Formats: sequence, C-alpha cells, structure tokens
Amino acid sequence: MEVRKIMESMEYGPAPESRENADKWLDKFDRKLKIFIANEWRDSETYFDSIEPGTGKVLTQIAAASDKDVEDAIQAAKGAQQSWADLGGHGRARYLYAIARQIQKHQRLFSVLESLDNGKPIRESRDIDIPLVARHFYHHAGWAQLMDEKLKDYQPLGVIGAIVPWNFPLLIFSWKVAPALAMGSTLAIKPAKLTSVTALLFAEICKNVGLPSGVINIVPGSGRTVGEYIVNHPDIAKVTFTGSTEVGKHIRKSIAGSGKKSTMELGGKSPYIVFEDADIDSAIEGLVDAIWFNQGQVCCAGSRLLIQENIAKDFIEMLKQRMSKLRVGNPLDKAIDIGAVVDKNQFNTIDHYVKIGEDEGGSKFQPTISCPDEGFYYPPTLFTDISPADTLAQEEIFGPILVSMTFRTPEEAVKLANNSRYGLAASIWTENLNLALDIAPKVKSGVIWVNSTNLFDAAAGFGGYKESGFGREGGIEGLYDFVKPK
Ligand code: NAP
Ligand code: MG
Repeated sequence: MEVRKIMESMEYGPAPESRENADKWLDKFDRKLKIFIANEWRDSETYFDSIEPGTGKVLTQIAAASDKDVEDAIQAAKGAQQSWADLGGHGRARYLYAIARQIQKHQRLFSVLESLDNGKPIRESRDIDIPLVARHFYHHAGWAQLMDEKLKDYQPLGVIGAIVPWNFPLLIFSWKVAPALAMGSTLAIKPAKLTSVTALLFAEICKNVGLPSGVINIVPGSGRTVGEYIVNHPDIAKVTFTGSTEVGKHIRKSIAGSGKKSTMELGGKSPYIVFEDADIDSAIEGLVDAIWFNQGQVCCAGSRLLIQENIAKDFIEMLKQRMSKLRVGNPLDKAIDIGAVVDKNQFNTIDHYVKIGEDEGGSKFQPTISCPDEGFYYPPTLFTDISPADTLAQEEIFGPILVSMTFRTPEEAVKLANNSRYGLAASIWTENLNLALDIAPKVKSGVIWVNSTNLFDAAAGFGGYKESGFGREGGIEGLYDFVKPK
C-alpha cells in the first residue's frame, strides 16, 4: 500500500500520559494524604475522599483539619513570620528560586496529579497550569530581590489566610503564596476540598528545599469549617480569596471592621466580542480557548459571544463545524480537547442551566460527539436566540456552555458587554486596532485581550471590576496588596 493511503486510513487511538509516578506518589502515603503544619505531616480522625472526575472513582483520601489543627497552623505561621521577614528580600528569594526549580523538576508529576484530581486535559496542566506556577515563583523571587531596599518603607502584612478554589488548584494557590512569601508574610492555606492533592505535593517540595518551619501551612477541609476558622481568626492580617461571588460577599461581611485586608477574585461572565472585520479563523480558534479551556470552569471564560450581526450567520455555522471536531475524553489523553468537569454537582449545575436555556426559548446546539460513560463529561454546548436579559446571558454557569447574541454598532457592543453584574475580562476581535483601542477602555472589566484570550502572566495584574471582586494578583499591584506602608 502507498504510504499516503496508509496515512489516510490511520485511526488515531488514545495517547495517554502515564499515571505510574502519580500512583506511586499517592501510594507512598497509602492514599491517605495528611495535613501540613510547621513542616510536619499531621494525621486526622476524619478523612474525606478526593474523587477522580475522569473516572468518578476515589483517587485518594485526605485528612480533614480540625479547629485545633487550623489554630496550630495559624500559630505556626505567626511564630515563623518575623524571622522570615528578617531574612530580607535576597534571603527569601533563594527559597523562591529553589521552589520554582523544584516545580520544574517535578513538572510531570504535578501535571498528572492535577489532571487526575481536577479532570482538566493533561495538555493544559502540562503546558499552562504548571509552567505558569513555576513562572510565578521565578517572577516573585525577582521581586523579592528588587524590592529589598524599597521594602524598608513598607512592612509585611503578617499571617495571610489563603482560600483557593478547585478550577486551577495549584496555579491560583501560587498566585497567593508566591507574592505573600516574597513580601515577607507567612501563610495558612485552605485548598479546595475537591482538589487538595497538588497543594500537598507542593508542601513536600517546600520541606525538601528546607523552607523554614511554619512559613507555609496547609489545612485541607471544607469552607464551612476550616475556611470560616481562618477568616474569623484575629491573628489573620489578610484574607486572599478566590471563589464564588456569593462566598466572597459572605467573607467580606465576616471581616468588616476587623482591620483585616482582603483580596477577592470572584465570578465572571466575560464577553467575547467579534467585529465584522475580524480574522474569523483566529476568532473561532480563540473561542475554543475562551470557553472550552478547562471545560469552561474558568472565572474569566469568554462565555458570552457578542457578534456583529452581518457576519453572525456564517460565523455560527463555522463555529458549529469546529465544535463537531472537539474531542471529549480521558483527561490524561494527550489528544483530547475537553476533559471532565470537576464533580457530579458541577455536572448537575451545568445541566440545570442548559434546561433553563431551553425553557427560556434558546436554541441549543450540541455536536454529536461521544463522551466516556464513566466520569463527569459534558459536551460543548452553544445557545443562540438568547436575549440579554435571559438567565443564560446573565448568570455564570462555570461549564462548557457558550451563549451568543448579536450587535450592530460598536456602541451597541459596548452596551451589551457592560450589561452584566460582573466585570472580570473581555476579548475584542477586530483587524481595526483603532476600534479595539477605542472600545477597550469603555468595556468595564479588569482585563482586556485584543485578538487573543485567556493569556496570563505573572507580570500582569489580574482581577475584576464590579462583582468580580477587587485587588490584583500578579504585577506590581499584586505586590503592594501584600505590604503596608510605614
Ligand atoms: P466557592 O464555593 O466560593 O469556593 C471557593 C473556596 O472557598 C473553596 O476553597 C471553598 O471551600 C471555600 N469556602 C466555601 N465557603 C466558605 C466560607 N463560608 N468561608 C470560607 N471559605 C469558604 O467557589 P468554587 O465553586 O470553588 O469556585 C467557583 C467560583 O470561583 C466561580 O464563581 C468562579 O468564577 C470563581 N473563580 C474566580 C476566579 C478569579 O480569579 N476571579 C478564579 C477561579 C474561580 P470548599 O472546599 O468547601 O468548597
Ligand atoms: Mg478531585
């Protein structure tokens, strides 16, 4: 047979990344991961299951921290804080560089564990999440050194309480931990109950590089117990929270008048605006990143497609064809585009919103592509015939659901974009940069991407307007959120 015919007839099977080392690492702890306080692993009377969304099976058990454990974690952080600050920027940078280097060294183990625990495609954890984590520590190591002199006019905040969501478990963790450490604070950290595994591998790495005892403490458990205890503790100087707007509001009420600082990275319903003169192929490819990256469980997901009316019909047709080529499957398969959503609850929430969309008269499109039988897989979904006031146009779904609406003029595009209680991010697609630069300041969001989407960098402050929160993570603004002027 000719080579060409062989190639054409070839069916690509799955290309799974090996999970052997991840399984070995979990087995080292007999699949009972422990609490990390003052560089020691601590047992618990209660363990909870961490599920693998790709299969629905238990990945490992994790020790739940009691009030006493959280108290000890905060006291360990308090006890370590002055000597950590006294090390100075150059002294602290040495540890941050060492941590960054270790993350790179164990990049594959981190990536596989993250995909097993969260359900995200291995290509994303391997090429995006974990490299950005390393980048975040390198970047902040640099700032610790550069700020050494400057910091004489500032003081570290003290003990930071960090509360982390499940969608980017180690990345958002590092957005909080790296700047806090660089600026001389110590931490008590609560990972999300659904995804605590990589935070505990991180703890092991800190121990291995000789990070002084008490500088980081990790207390797994639920928001209602561990989270509340951290938020309400008088020795916490700042709460850095990423999660839902609802819980963010609750935390702000709890700390009102306490003198605690806070940073809130909350929900979003970000517009993805396509003008008639956009490079359509790139805009379609961008949409795949905007709404199907991490199964749409992204705070800044481009979940509202706003498209200029005269190109809408053709654009939607091309989009549907592209959607039909997306591959949904095992998160460890290097050939898939979309993995599993984080758990059964999230699956049900997404499905519930899809039913609301149908009830409210939206037209639903789901390509006929196969999803695995076991695990929590949701097909990519598009709603057209949606009006701006509909539930699906207003509420954050946090899943692979795109809603589309049309506009005629740039003014109308801006108005539609701003018709939201959120203001986290926006993407603008046009070949006319004057137009992009004209409307960018008018769109009320903390982040704007032009002819691109979902790009993150440690040097650019990330955060929202309106109910998407306040404070910035990354960039120079992010550093000043971790110090107080003296
Ligand atoms: P969530 O329910 O608000 O949970 C976030 C974290 O807060 C979890 O660790 C959770 O603990 C904890 N928590 C819950 N109740 C608490 C309480 N009363 N006191 C203290 N902590 C408490 O949000 P999620 O469902 O994990 O994440 C999805 C949401 O996060 C979406 O709305 C998304 O937009 C937002 N998000 C925003 C950004 C951003 O940068 N703006 C980034 C990612 C996600 P458990 O472990 O018990 O759940
Ligand atoms: Mg899990």
